[in-house]
Amino acid sequence: MVAAAAEEQTLNILIVEDDDDTAEVVSIVLSDAGFHTQAVDRGKVALNEIANQTPDLVLLDLGLPDMHGLQVLETLRAYSSLPLIVLSGRGTDNDRIYALNAGADDYLTKPFNPEELVARVRALLRRVTITPTAETLLQVRGLRFDLARRQTFLQDKRLHLTPTEYNILLALARQAGKVLTYDELIHLVWGEEIEDPSVLRVNISRLRQKIEENPRHPRYIVTVPNEGYIMPKGGPAT
Ligand code: CA
Repeated sequence: MVAAAAEEQTLNILIVEDDDDTAEVVSIVLSDAGFHTQAVDRGKVALNEIANQTPDLVLLDLGLPDMHGLQVLETLRAYSSLPLIVLSGRGTDNDRIYALNAGADDYLTKPFNPEELVARVRALLRRVTITPTAETLLQVRGLRFDLARRQTFLQDKRLHLTPTEYNILLALARQAGKVLTYDELIHLVWGEEIEDPSVLRVNISRLRQKIEENPRHPRYIVTVPNEGYIMPKGGPAT
């Protein structure tokens, strides 16, 4: 196991998993990687812990004894944009799409390689880390980004975006007026990590639900067929 980077020492990861063996293995590999971990085995307990302790990242099993993991995810996403990776025993495409639709940032199917879990956790945390920048504000029409706080406003109303949604929207806004190809966007948002292209599509669809007046006729995230997406610079500020 690679030695932990200093900045990872204090990061707390909440493991929501009712299978003791899995919870223990996950806890061990993450501790070895330098993270603090806490494991709970019920959805309700997890929601309490998240509200009270605010972990830095959540690993969520879908099959929990008291409630479905997706319910936990939906409840959480109503008020929180915590980075979250779903761990699931079921590996069908539908389950993955459901979880991503409900706001998961990533998805791992059991049994997974512990090294891969650590790599995914690190990759997600890298994507949500605030990188110091000279810029503090960015505005495209009615959309405004507070880059220091990673907050987004639409017509001065705060948007509740997941870390992945924020990164996608910011990438498009930074290049407003220019088409970003699917590959460029995946590279900008996920870096070198190999991601399932459906993750991008699902996140774009969620973003449109949140920011577009009419998601079927988007004005902020416009599809350029066979090319990618563009955020037009001009047009009505609505
Ligand atoms: Ca389970």
